[in-house]
Amino acid sequence: MSGPRDYQVEGLVIRDATVGERDRVVVLFSRDEGKLTFVARGARRPGSSLGPSVQMLTRGRFQCVRRRGLDLLTQAVSIESYGKLKAELWSMSCGLYLAELVDSSTVEAAPNRTLYDLLVGVLDAINHHGCSDALLRYFELRLLQCVGFCPSVQRCVGCGGRLRPEVNALSATLGGAMCPDCSSSCTDAIPLSVDALKVLRFCLANDLETSCRAKLSASLAAEVEEHLHRFLVGVLQKELKSRAWLFRLRTEALLTGNGQAPTIARRSES
Ligand SMILES: [Zn+2]
Repeated sequence: MSGPRDYQVEGLVIRDATVGERDRVVVLFSRDEGKLTFVARGARRPGSSLGPSVQMLTRGRFQCVRRRGLDLLTQAVSIESYGKLKAELWSMSCGLYLAELVDSSTVEAAPNRTLYDLLVGVLDAINHHGCSDALLRYFELRLLQCVGFCPSVQRCVGCGGRLRPEVNALSATLGGAMCPDCSSSCTDAIPLSVDALKVLRFCLANDLETSCRAKLSASLAAEVEEHLHRFLVGVLQKELKSRAWLFRLRTEALLTGNGQAPTIARRSES
């Protein structure tokens, strides 16, 4: 990166790590420059003015200094600290899952304003209304779209033919929906119901608020979740730790009879 020594970015903290007794390494997903990594000197010191603004899932304006190694974060003004989200374990865990998804699907210094707006929009929604299944699925699908791996759901990715209203299939390897004829010779294609195909199309055609109004049965929600999960694992080439944690929370909520948290398919821990 070239330019003046001092500069400012707006961004959201998507990863952090401690360095020694006083410093932090902070990864921001910035509005205009994508993912950027900084050192925040003294951020772990008691009473540090920088400390609160470089906590996970805090959005702010950051003053930065360019250096040969990692640039420095020197000052920060918080725009949104997502207090309600962080006060509730399930919401916070969902927020961390979104952050890990963004971190895992992006490279340094590749601007992606659409993904930034998506992340901020979904975090705002969680902060105001809590986190639903529909919100997680909307984010996963739109993230795939933002990073160039949107499942193709209009025509068969095998023959290009129009998909009929019947049980088709979805292949993560080939990148989308397939007709029954083509899917019979595709080893990773799994059945895609008519309703699940409609849900994917609906989420791609509508905004967050409209998409999240759709009411899905538990079995349909689980099917959509399974398809998106397969796509994400195919793109990211790994399982996410934060997802395994969501599964554990969900399981424990069920065991204690507090089953309000959204469904996370069992496959997520496999
Ligand atoms: Zn086909």
